[in-house]
Amino acid sequence: MLPAQLLQAPEVHAFNPPRRILMGPGPSDVYPQVLAAQARPTVGHLDPLFVGMMDELKRLIQYAFQTSNEMTLAVSAPGSAGMEACFVNLVEPGEKVIVCRNGVFGERMRQNVERVGAVAVVVDNLWGECVDPHAVEAALRAHPDAKFLAFVHAETSTGALSDAKTLCRLAREHGCLSIVDAVTSLGGVELRVDDWGIDAIYSGSQKCLSCVPGLSPLSFSPAAVAKLRSRKTQVQSWFLDQSLVMGYWGSDTGAKRSYHHTAPVNALYALHESLRLLALEGLQQAWRRHAEMHSVLRLGLERLGLEFVVEEAARLPQLNAVYIPEGVDDALVRRRLLNDYNLEIGAGLGALAGKAWRIGLMGYGARRENISLCLRALEEVLG
Ligand code: PLP
Repeated sequence: MLPAQLLQAPEVHAFNPPRRILMGPGPSDVYPQVLAAQARPTVGHLDPLFVGMMDELKRLIQYAFQTSNEMTLAVSAPGSAGMEACFVNLVEPGEKVIVCRNGVFGERMRQNVERVGAVAVVVDNLWGECVDPHAVEAALRAHPDAKFLAFVHAETSTGALSDAKTLCRLAREHGCLSIVDAVTSLGGVELRVDDWGIDAIYSGSQKCLSCVPGLSPLSFSPAAVAKLRSRKTQVQSWFLDQSLVMGYWGSDTGAKRSYHHTAPVNALYALHESLRLLALEGLQQAWRRHAEMHSVLRLGLERLGLEFVVEEAARLPQLNAVYIPEGVDDALVRRRLLNDYNLEIGAGLGALAGKAWRIGLMGYGARRENISLCLRALEEVLG
């Protein structure tokens, strides 16, 4: 029997959050145009008008990833589902995967490898360092039976950027397919899927695309698709099985789209709009803007005496991790920024919990007025 108070209809007000300035590790500030796009009337997910928008969306994702891969789409779930989609579709039980771990998300990749019943060979780098290509090459040499190399391009837990071009070349030279996490890199730093020979890549809508959270752009190269098609075992996840999902997203065979799951129609309007804005700005200009805004923020943070976790050469412009000064109350500072300035910055994660702040400059958030607010607020709060 339910308690009496649970049988009554709850009386709650509509949720009406204040406008925060999101300068953490994501979600980032969403473009006003993207929020407006999401509020447009819902249509059926097989409505011809919607299907036309999906075709444009696929083209926009291909542009953002710089790929002509036919299997390019947005997974109807957040970045973690994009990660999982790569592992459950491509990696079969017993196969060997070299996994690079230099922060939280490399470790999450390792857990995915284990959960599909495969064997993870971990190449560790310290938190704050980028993945060391020499160590990766040594692991590839030591494990000629490895089938995949998996790494995080932009490690959000530390702010380190790894050399995806070199790592993917090494993978190819050793007969491995590459699986790349581009959740924080897409739209913020140079990323060229076809030129760099990336085989499987996923991202997230809520970082440098400045879209609402909950979608994961994903792309598989023809070699990755061939691996998927030649599996000896069924993909263990029905929802994430990309060969089924492609029946809805459309393939090059011109086959009619069919129902797989109900697409998040309005969220896809939002992604379409955010990628349209990225295309209007131009990818290279977006990369340049992130780099420029990082320089402005860096100068200000250094003036406040804050030290970066990552050395300059490997630093992500869109994720600035700085050490919390000695004797400063981490939680109190972040609470005051939120309450007094409506400003969110990120706490440290994993090994950096309580030791660092993560200041995001992502997408729409990478602009001068945000930087000025953040620097002024930090100066006043740190006294
Ligand atoms: N990979 C990286 C590098 C991330 O930064 C994140 C989220 O912050 C994820 C994966 C997981 O994405 P999501 O939180 O959207 O599931």
